[in-house]
Amino acid sequence: MPDSTLLRTYDVREERLEILKRYADLLRAWKTPADRRDKEMVRKALDLALEAHKDMRRRSGEPYIYHPLEVAHIVASEIGLGTTAIVCALLHDVVEDTDYRIEDMTRVFGEKVGRIIDGLTKIKGIFDQTTESIQAENFKKMLLTLSDDVRVILIKLADRLHNMRTLDSMPPGKQLKIASETTYLYAPLAHRLGLFAIKSELEDLALKYTEPEIFATIRRKLEESEAQRQEFIEEFIHPIRKALQEKGLVYEIMGRTKSVYSIWQKMKKKEIPFEEVYDLFAVRIVIDTPPDQEKVDCWRVYSIITDFYTPNKDRLRDWVSLPKANGYEALHTTVMSHTGKWVEVQIRTQRMDEIAERGYAAHWKYKGSSGDTALDDWLNRIRELLKGESEEDALDFLSEFKLNLFTDEIYVFTPKGELKTLPGGATALDFAYHIHSQIGSASIGAKVNYKLVPLSHPLRTGDQVEIITSRKQEPHEEWLKFVVTARARANIKNALKEERRRHFTEGRARLEKLFAQLEVEDSKLNIYTFQLYTGRRSLIDLYYDLAKDNIGLKEARECFSQNEKTNWFRRISRPFARRQGVSKSLSEVIRTKLEDKPTDVVIEGGIDASVYEISSCCYPIPGDDVIGVVDYNGPTQLHRSGCPEAIQLMSKYGNRIVKAKWTNNEPVAFLTGIKVTGIDKPGLIIDITRIITEQHSLNIRAFNMSSKGEVMEGTITLLVFNTLQLQEILQSIQQIQGIRRAARLAPGDLSPS
Ligand code: MN
Repeated sequence: MPDSTLLRTYDVREERLEILKRYADLLRAWKTPADRRDKEMVRKALDLALEAHKDMRRRSGEPYIYHPLEVAHIVASEIGLGTTAIVCALLHDVVEDTDYRIEDMTRVFGEKVGRIIDGLTKIKGIFDQTTESIQAENFKKMLLTLSDDVRVILIKLADRLHNMRTLDSMPPGKQLKIASETTYLYAPLAHRLGLFAIKSELEDLALKYTEPEIFATIRRKLEESEAQRQEFIEEFIHPIRKALQEKGLVYEIMGRTKSVYSIWQKMKKKEIPFEEVYDLFAVRIVIDTPPDQEKVDCWRVYSIITDFYTPNKDRLRDWVSLPKANGYEALHTTVMSHTGKWVEVQIRTQRMDEIAERGYAAHWKYKGSSGDTALDDWLNRIRELLKGESEEDALDFLSEFKLNLFTDEIYVFTPKGELKTLPGGATALDFAYHIHSQIGSASIGAKVNYKLVPLSHPLRTGDQVEIITSRKQEPHEEWLKFVVTARARANIKNALKEERRRHFTEGRARLEKLFAQLEVEDSKLNIYTFQLYTGRRSLIDLYYDLAKDNIGLKEARECFSQNEKTNWFRRISRPFARRQGVSKSLSEVIRTKLEDKPTDVVIEGGIDASVYEISSCCYPIPGDDVIGVVDYNGPTQLHRSGCPEAIQLMSKYGNRIVKAKWTNNEPVAFLTGIKVTGIDKPGLIIDITRIITEQHSLNIRAFNMSSKGEVMEGTITLLVFNTLQLQEILQSIQQIQGIRRAARLAPGDLSPS
């Protein structure tokens, strides 16, 4: 078979020159002053990599060595790491792809380099899997290696960044997989490590492949508005410049445009077009000032800015006094410009800027000037969490890890005044587990600011928390309902699981007896049938509840009854029977469920209250894209396919998700919500109400209005028949004079009243 790559010829001399040029670039990018021995070591690493990869080419046809050279360049210039990391980056693919072994690396470059390359090779070996759960498990392993040496992760991120930059030469299928993996795992990780520049670039590159059209459109619009933006920024900073000079501050001012990805996130979240994203850019002021002057000088700059522009007092963020957990330090404020646009201003020192852009590696360089404990804290937390956890929890862990990343942080104090960082929404019990797992498990209550509160009490920044414990206490199932940290969850689950294991044998014996009593065969299939029927997630759960007498003869009889009316089979088989036009026996249905994956099952036949339930997190209405989550214990839950809750469920219980489709002629109205903003004027509410109740003869369930000055904001909950009707209503409202925007409420914003 003819292969075009075989026919290609390469200009080897040209390529050798290119390699030397890239090597020279690498040496220039290497900022830390290197002595002769360091340079020799890097040279040796390059020579070894050159030899090892000598006959290899990348998919693009380029010599393979370009890749490790570029990864080393990123490691040196964009993460700011030193000799060891540069050597490891040059060698990162050697053991995986060639005949060299780890021992060879250790012999030539020493123990440390050998260990890091070993870590990188292992990560790579397990990372090329496709399914979600394996991914999660690998991710755990990857984080575990963090405890050995953070450089493993940093080099891995550099490797991924270069692969993303050169993703064009991959086949489209692989592009998508690599891109979504990048959004899901690598970008959050980069964020957590404080590598802001790399995080943004990874997100943008991933979006370019997952949503090519959106990416191109936003980028084009950004380019088109560039000149205008520059002009605006110049005008905005003109008076500030002068004042800063007069005060004798050494500074640099720049306008920073938001990344394509974050603009897109904002458009999606607020359901607004590009033109309405007002904070497309931020003005950043970086000052050069000695460490002991940092705080004072940042506030001096703040004071100068607010001399010229009025600040929005709700949007002042002081991460100078209390840095974020990922190490970020800066002062943010949003001020009103003379053209009536809000502008975000970020104030940082050079040191803070370096940390913000390059993360912990940069942090190390400034060690001593600020605490290094946040990273250690984080690593400790992860390490503890991963200890002794079983594989089935990997996905839980992953979603919680992400959860922990994106919620805001709160700062609370121990009775001795020690500062602890917890995710927003954390409760007293989270705090207890944060201090120590034994304190968590033994806690019975807490004192927050000297007042007695239950364990479920949510904490707020500034709270001082004391935990009250009792030796008799044990973790309870209900605790899972109000803890938000991954550490607390894992600890509680483990304790509960332990208790459940103790009941395993007893429950098994009970089931055997029940089967004998009902003359049901004691087979694997029947046990599974019973587990599905009772809705227990695992055999451990099933046996626990049998042992505890939470389930028993009644359930078993219902499950295995021959009577069609009471038999559970009728309930779950309905959708299948409809699809296949025949009714099947229960065991057949279950076999089908086990054999062909039910992901493509189409639930048809309108809304039958006994089969469906509209989920109360996103309130889908006919016309929405919906999915169903099968609950073997009750009705199938319908969610809008973009509902965050549903996405989480999908990643956890892929096998219980079915595609659902609306049939069109159901005369049933569904709850939905609308949000309107506009200029407050008399008669506005009447106009809106008229459209809904008179033009469309629909019922309004609730109408909430609030106005700030001239601006009115309102939410209306109402009952509609389908999305088409909702669209019509929105359009009519939009045409009312004074209304600026009318849109459907996002999932999660609607609470029934
Ligand atoms: Mn690589």
